[in-house]
Amino acid sequence: MKITIGHLYPDLLNLYGDRGNIQCLKMRLLWRGFDAEVLRFGIDDPVDFTKLDIVLLGGGSDREQMIVCRKLQNIQKDFKAYVEDGGTTIAVCGGYQLLGHYYNTPDGKMEGLHLVDLYTEQGSPRLISNIVLQNDLYPYPVVGFENHGGRTWLGKDQKPFGKVLFGHGNNDKDGQEGVIYKNVIGTYLHGPLLPKNPHVCDDLLIRALRRKGFEGELEPLEDQEEREAGDYIVKRFTGGKAS
Ligand code: GLN
Repeated sequence: MKITIGHLYPDLLNLYGDRGNIQCLKMRLLWRGFDAEVLRFGIDDPVDFTKLDIVLLGGGSDREQMIVCRKLQNIQKDFKAYVEDGGTTIAVCGGYQLLGHYYNTPDGKMEGLHLVDLYTEQGSPRLISNIVLQNDLYPYPVVGFENHGGRTWLGKDQKPFGKVLFGHGNNDKDGQEGVIYKNVIGTYLHGPLLPKNPHVCDDLLIRALRRKGFEGELEPLEDQEEREAGDYIVKRFTGGKAS
């Protein structure tokens, strides 16, 4: 079985090396004997969502997001159909903000994709921190790093990616971080989110594989070092509350 991963706009939305997340998805498929293909899309390329199993929309500065958001309306309809059909998506930081209705900044309002019921308002200061989340979906907490000016607010029926145990999260007020809608995960945790959290990577993979008809379970991989690093971070920032 082959999984095709579509990386949307790596030239513009690739703050903090979000590309490493693509490598993680790909290698964890190959190590288990699946095929994996990565397609990179430039801002003017047509995107055929019917050929994709996982979509990654990375993080970007406000300036880059403004360029991207003008183009996004061209793919909105097909992206929405993909999401509603259970297509797997991981959207990070700037990409996460663009999943929603809008991102409002002092330099202008960016129209979002309206794929998930959320919106973002820029605030001050920037929210910069290590972060630890808990979600009962996962066997372990999720660890990462956040750096965003935007404050994101979820619509009342939306579920967060996690409850914040340490850090700021969506808006520094409601104790929530990110969103999970159908098979879409949106989060402010950028950089090596998936290498640091192999359990989140595998969750995305199983969502994509199930949609393609895979009925088995994912073979466990050797994640001892990642687990130890994750446990260390959880202890350091939460005093062990989540472990
Ligand atoms: N430009 C957005 C913000 O500052 C997202 C930043 C990012 O992708 N790190 O909120």
